[in-house]
Amino acid sequence: MPQVKRNPSVVIIGAGMTGMLMVIKLRKAGITDIVVLEKKDSVGGTWRENTYPGAACDVPAHMYTYSFEPNPNWSRFFARGPEIRDYFENVADKYDVKRDIRFNEEVTDAQYDRGKWTVKTSKEQTYVADFIVCATGILHHPKFPDIPGIDDFKGAKFHTAQWDHDVKISDSTRVGVIGTGSTAAQTIPELINTGAKVSVFQRTPQWLMHLPDFKFSKTMRKLMTRFPLLTKMHRNLGKAFLEHFFTKAVTGHFIQKHVLNFLCKANLRFSIKDKRLREKLQPNYQVGCKRVIINTTFYKAIQKPNAELITDTIERVTETGIITKDGKHHELDVLVLSTGFNAFNFMRPMNLIGRNNLHIDKAWEHKIKAYRSMMLSGYPNFFLMLGPNTPIGNFSVIAMSEVQADYLIKMIDKWRHHEFDEFEAKQEAIDEFTAYIKKGLKGTSWVGGCQSWYLDADGDPILWPYTWRRWIDEMKEPQMEHIETRSFRQGHFDS
Ligand code: NAP
Repeated sequence: MPQVKRNPSVVIIGAGMTGMLMVIKLRKAGITDIVVLEKKDSVGGTWRENTYPGAACDVPAHMYTYSFEPNPNWSRFFARGPEIRDYFENVADKYDVKRDIRFNEEVTDAQYDRGKWTVKTSKEQTYVADFIVCATGILHHPKFPDIPGIDDFKGAKFHTAQWDHDVKISDSTRVGVIGTGSTAAQTIPELINTGAKVSVFQRTPQWLMHLPDFKFSKTMRKLMTRFPLLTKMHRNLGKAFLEHFFTKAVTGHFIQKHVLNFLCKANLRFSIKDKRLREKLQPNYQVGCKRVIINTTFYKAIQKPNAELITDTIERVTETGIITKDGKHHELDVLVLSTGFNAFNFMRPMNLIGRNNLHIDKAWEHKIKAYRSMMLSGYPNFFLMLGPNTPIGNFSVIAMSEVQADYLIKMIDKWRHHEFDEFEAKQEAIDEFTAYIKKGLKGTSWVGGCQSWYLDADGDPILWPYTWRRWIDEMKEPQMEHIETRSFRQGHFDS
């Protein structure tokens, strides 16, 4: 007699873009026993956290959108943070996602035993589930610089991901910003526009590309609402640009690489008039080695009279400012740390314990790796979304999450049809996948002579080094020969 299809219980950790997507996709697949555990009090993940002035997404808005929930009302080509946050709030309301979310409940422990995950939270609640999906995102643990004297600073001091909006910045404020990454490039111009005296402490210059950012007119938005094909066309254009130009440029495709090279170099050459300033902003590594910053405001702003670019090494922070190697004391009222994130935490500091009491810190002791970025050996019925080697150049992480969600549902579907009771990646498959990635990394810009948050302890970028198309093709169907499955029968495991 055919067995009844099972309805699994699923715990999703995180209610950001990916956690929300998982709720929508799982429900669509007929899976209804879902609990989302979210450490904060609202949805939106990175877009809830990053409220710094100027926060925006450098992926075209129509591409930074769930494929099933287009938004003809995006106000600009590159959407700003608050508008993106609203988009996720609206999607959460439309799909009634919040009914499955437990807010302000951080997962502290998750342990697997014989087909079940037991999950404990900061509210001392316990949940038992068949599957765990870690939708905890990539860049969510702010990295604080270890600079002598940093704790002595008496003025206001905060990380860009924890912006203190109570601190008023005006034309009489002296602001110091440490860092010149994507975040800094967006927020520095906003600070400079307040009239404040802004001192930018740059350790390494970055390559910037100028892509026109424009507002969609009311008429255009009306037309896109009336004719959904127009919205789709915008999305497809953005996708084609990212797929055929950007991701290829950084993964070693000759023409795209040289065009990107030219565009960034020309941007620096023609945007910065002063030769000395230009030299200070000139990187000495390959374009694309660090994430190319798509930005139209930074170069203009840094040339304003109330801005100063400081390239002397920071020696120490004092109670009232920063001393640089040349002995100069830069007096500051506010110190902004735009120093990035610890990109290798993934779901940690959670105590994630798999089969045979395997702790995640032990499993990842030598290298952080996962089969197809999603599955680990020793962690049955477990998925990591946007895991190591997911991010593809400057592609949309939403598109990546959607592909991973479909893959995951295919695996769960096999479980629902009783093909097995538990599954996990084979260790050999993880090793093979890691070697396959390493082979591809050789030709990419990410190994082009710079330090970046992409690099792991071995200096290997945690990115996907091939094309988007290849990734989609390889993620289409689970290759079951790489996956170990087991069934429980009368209390025993059958391999
Ligand atoms: P980041 O790219 O890692 O940049 C950190 C900056 O801080 C770098 O300039 C770094 O200098 C500097 N820094 C770190 N520690 C320092 C120290 N001890 N002393 C002096 N300088 C120090 O971080 P991010 O700008 O926050 O961006 C991280 C990622 O977030 C981006 O690459 C992107 O993926 C994402 N992001 C995306 C968007 C978007 O539009 N989609 C916007 C913002 C961020 P070095 O270069 O010398 O290390």
